[in-house]
Amino acid sequence: MTDRIPTQDITDAAQKKAAELRAAKGRKEEKLQNSEDLYQKRKHIYVRKAIGFFTNLRNILNWVMLVAYFTFSWLQWDGKQAILFDLPNRQFHVFGYTFFPHDFMLLSWILIICAFLLFFMTVFAGRVWCGYACPQSVWTFLYIWAERITEGPRNKRMSLDRSEMTSEKLRRKTAKHLLWLTIALATAFAFVGYFSPIRDLGPRILEMDLGPWEMWWLFFFTAATYINAGWMREQVCIYMCPYARFQSVMFDRDTLVVSYDAARGENRGRRKKGADYKAEGLGDCIDCGVCVQVCPVGIDIRDGLQYECITCAACIDGCDEMMDKMGYDRGLVRYTTENELEGKKTHILRPRLIGYFVALMAMVIALGIAVNDRVPLELEILRDRNQLYRMDVNGNIENSYIIKIANMDQKEHNYALSVEGLAGLELVGQTEVSVSAGEVINLPVRIILHESKMNVPSADIQITVKSSDNSGHEMTKESRFISAVQR
Ligand code: SF4
Ligand code: SF4
Repeated sequence: MTDRIPTQDITDAAQKKAAELRAAKGRKEEKLQNSEDLYQKRKHIYVRKAIGFFTNLRNILNWVMLVAYFTFSWLQWDGKQAILFDLPNRQFHVFGYTFFPHDFMLLSWILIICAFLLFFMTVFAGRVWCGYACPQSVWTFLYIWAERITEGPRNKRMSLDRSEMTSEKLRRKTAKHLLWLTIALATAFAFVGYFSPIRDLGPRILEMDLGPWEMWWLFFFTAATYINAGWMREQVCIYMCPYARFQSVMFDRDTLVVSYDAARGENRGRRKKGADYKAEGLGDCIDCGVCVQVCPVGIDIRDGLQYECITCAACIDGCDEMMDKMGYDRGLVRYTTENELEGKKTHILRPRLIGYFVALMAMVIALGIAVNDRVPLELEILRDRNQLYRMDVNGNIENSYIIKIANMDQKEHNYALSVEGLAGLELVGQTEVSVSAGEVINLPVRIILHESKMNVPSADIQITVKSSDNSGHEMTKESRFISAVQR
């Protein structure tokens, strides 16, 4: 006989199960809610045009940098592209200088100098690099300009986005994206032109004659520029850039930052022009919101110093314009220091800043000396490892070497080879060689030790390559001569 489960028990179990499911659902929703808090939805920022000193300064700097970026690869120097990073031939031409992989030490120096310059600037004036010179900001401002000329000023862009699709909207949006894509393509073209001769690049694109890497970088740079400057914008600065995260540790109370003078501005509020607002308990901030509308990262500087701020100073120009309209003093939002805002003295010269400056200058001087003393000649000696030594037909001891000579100069040189280190050594074969500018040759040579010196043991020798013209280029490298007597 089968045991029957009482109906009451079934009902209790079902209710218990339903309660568990409800609790699990609640936990899931709570988790989802928390994750939504962590990943805040992005609000599109409609940047209003700012007018003023800092905006003009930034525009001038940005246009100079853009013109330099787009034109430097077209410049010629001694009949060659002035800046060309010729990766297949491992030669890097920069205004008459040719650098080789051996010179990567110099590149490391330059990168370290750039890092110290960035630290120095950050301690002195916060994130001025971000606001005025970072490519992400420069291209973002360029894209915002393109947006403005195709879709109109801020209010018009906002109403255009809210409106239904019309032929006018379609026309403006298409124009904007075509302009964005053109800028992106031009940016990618200029970039690839620093690595592949730019004057041939256009015709080769038309003939579909590009290599796989050239095609990849053209595509990648076009896409990266279009997405980063057109769509992601401030998200790159806020979430992707490591500098944004660590720059705050370099700030101190004397660092110049863009700040709102709360003591002067509060209580903020609307008022009639010319009204005695102080009698109403109001400060200088008219709460117009212009400082927020011009901000490319969409923050309110009145909330205090925020890590999103790229110190572009657009809010200073925006607020100054409002102050002028109201007849108030400028500088409610201004470049200042925390000490100054608290009524204390600002110390421009301080140990950390001086330390960075001294380190920076020392490295610049050391780099200058290294570049100045650089001999545009590279020498490598490879011993023939198959045979330690052999006897020639005259009974002399013979060692074979491959001598690698890189002429890193801009002109051809004749080089003379010589050997020292053991009495009776003789270099036989080609002892003079001509090497073209930028050429690397492998020269097989033989060094013999006369039979009368047969008892001389193996020793280190020095092989010298010296230009036989007036350039004075000379380099010596050590190798080993193996004789019949081992020591
Ligand atoms: S708060 Fe001012 S300085 Fe900072 S990013 Fe916005 S507009 Fe530029
Ligand atoms: S622009 Fe100046 S006045 Fe207007 S809200 Fe900002 S701080 Fe206040």
